[in-house]
Amino acid sequence: MSEITAPCTRCHQPFLLTKKWQRDQLKAGKNLYCSQTCRREAVSKRASATMARTNRRYASQRMTLNNPMHKEPSRRKLQATLRIDLKYSADGEPVIHGIERISRPGRRVYRNKQDIPRVLGGLGLAIVSTSKGVLAGHEAAKSGIGGEVLCQVW
Ligand SMILES: [Zn+2]
Repeated sequence: MSEITAPCTRCHQPFLLTKKWQRDQLKAGKNLYCSQTCRREAVSKRASATMARTNRRYASQRMTLNNPMHKEPSRRKLQATLRIDLKYSADGEPVIHGIERISRPGRRVYRNKQDIPRVLGGLGLAIVSTSKGVLAGHEAAKSGIGGEVLCQVW
């Protein structure tokens, strides 16, 4: 029988295929290693590539789950949607020029009826969360109630 050589898959050195199963591997186009050292190296390299791929996948999953903007599809479906359209005048001028939040989770702002802020001398609007619902500042003052000043709009 003639001698058959083939290059090692890892080190690319040609070596003699002495065993029948090695020649079968060659015919099938499969990996062939010149030594146990080359086989071990190639296998551990594949394993660490698989590990790196797994680590990358878990890292990206963690990033998604830790993202405060991320919502599970099921939760998103159960939440109600509040749609707000902005108002424009007939000539295309925006009715709202500015909006500013007043009370915040870290610093709540409550006002009695006489201390509800007037915005732009009455041209703007404070929005107040009261015991009778969310009202415009002048409505709350007229009803004689104060509340949490959510924001001002002008
Ligand atoms: Zn080799």
